[in-house]
Amino acid sequence: MLARAPLNTEKLLIGGRRVAASSGRNFETLNPATGNVIARVDEADANDIHHAVCSARAAFEGAWSHMKASERGGLLLKLADLIRRDQDRLIEFESLDSGKPVSAIRRQDLPAVIDTLIYYAGMADKINGQVIPTRDDALTYTMREPVGVVGAIVPWNFPLMIGMWKIAPALACGCTVVLKPAEVTPLTALMIGDLAVEAGFPPGVLNVVPGFGNVAGQALVDHPDVDKVTFTGSPVIGRRILQGAAGNLKRVTLELGGKSANIIFPDADLDAAVKAASSGIFFNTGQVCSAGSRILVHESIHEEVVERLVIRAKSICIGDPLEASTAMGPLVSEVQMNRVLDYIKIGCAEGAFLVTGGARHGDTGYFVEPTIFAGVEDEMRISQEEIFGPVAAVIPFRDEDDAVRIANGTVYSLAAGVWTGDIGRAHRLTRSLKAGTVWVNTYGATDIRLPWGGSRDSGFGREHGDAAIENFTEPKAVWVNTAA
Ligand code: NAD
Repeated sequence: MLARAPLNTEKLLIGGRRVAASSGRNFETLNPATGNVIARVDEADANDIHHAVCSARAAFEGAWSHMKASERGGLLLKLADLIRRDQDRLIEFESLDSGKPVSAIRRQDLPAVIDTLIYYAGMADKINGQVIPTRDDALTYTMREPVGVVGAIVPWNFPLMIGMWKIAPALACGCTVVLKPAEVTPLTALMIGDLAVEAGFPPGVLNVVPGFGNVAGQALVDHPDVDKVTFTGSPVIGRRILQGAAGNLKRVTLELGGKSANIIFPDADLDAAVKAASSGIFFNTGQVCSAGSRILVHESIHEEVVERLVIRAKSICIGDPLEASTAMGPLVSEVQMNRVLDYIKIGCAEGAFLVTGGARHGDTGYFVEPTIFAGVEDEMRISQEEIFGPVAAVIPFRDEDDAVRIANGTVYSLAAGVWTGDIGRAHRLTRSLKAGTVWVNTYGATDIRLPWGGSRDSGFGREHGDAAIENFTEPKAVWVNTAA
């Protein structure tokens, strides 16, 4: 049985202790399935951010940098154990705060969080330099050093998982972290912070400071003693992050939005393609940066694929995210629900065919029906702009070149999918598609071992794998004179 008691006011986590916000202000976090308050959370402002950054700096210069790399790895493993121990509570609060179904968090997010910790725990003592031969009278080599204090800013769609994509590699590299969760989903980040304290991370190594983006987030980005910002969120805020980071020339990684094409050719396994296209857009209520929100279908099978997609959309079990049978929960907030409903109106006004959905689901919480537009033209706004909701735009194409042109014809370059039985075509498209990830005859899988990220309005830099180690370390070149 899941405990559903309301929480008290949640304080900030700074320097290994829960502390009240210096302003004394706090804010409500709501359950998007009901609109009810789950908890009040202390609201960090620039003073609190300064306090957290100082604490992270002190830990970086002190205990953390003197710890053996293998011990850092051991602490990450301990944190993974504690997360496993407390997984029911973490899953419950992730669901309450974000509206994500518990079944999906248990199947995907939580295992990914643990996998990420174990993966980077193993890397902590394998961050090697190189001996690079230059000349006879010198020993020349490199070592990799942690960049320092990291500001990590995360969105609300995968609070635990995206948070851990940043925390685990940063800590493995020997950095310290100030984590600012999204204001609508602050709870599980604080729980992870508490578990890190319990695991034995020295005070200040991981600080968690919930607050609003334009106050706490901006203060973190502007702070002159933060060495790196790793950000996942919207392109609009990504641009602000870059401007703020210019002050002390912080290093920046930006994982931003997407409008990804999932392309279905007539020679594909249509059962598999339609199933994946449906989950590619409706999983997590469409609030996924790599959602296959543009389903490109060859004109010869457009009608058939649309019919099959509609059947699938109508069969999705929408409801209370805490129920194990629920496949689709609400949108994260009323703001997000209204934004999605506005886009549905725009699609209708643009002349796209609304073939299913299109309305709010029920009158409690922020649910929207799985919605499909057919016969969408690629210049329409619903084909170009990220909706971040359960709205699919099905776009017919003529041939391979047409499919590539449409797929590449947005400002984003995050992900794409190709469904075909022709291996040559699969490889041709893989080369032609502008995307950080291309899925062939599958859609949406990610793994911490593979680089993740995009280009253009999808941001720059890569998370995951070795790329994350490079993000959080600086190479140092050493030249030793060995002349006799
Ligand atoms: P958002 O940009 O509004 O907010 C993201 C985070 O930035 C939040 O913590 C917010 O408080 C903070 N923030 C807001 N203003 C800020 C400022 N001025 N300075 C510093 N921080 C600030 O994005 P969102 O609505 O939370 O998330 C949705 C967006 O995230 C979508 O565009 C989605 O595609 C993108 N996203 C990308 C990926 C990826 O891996 N590429 C993954 C998930 C989500």
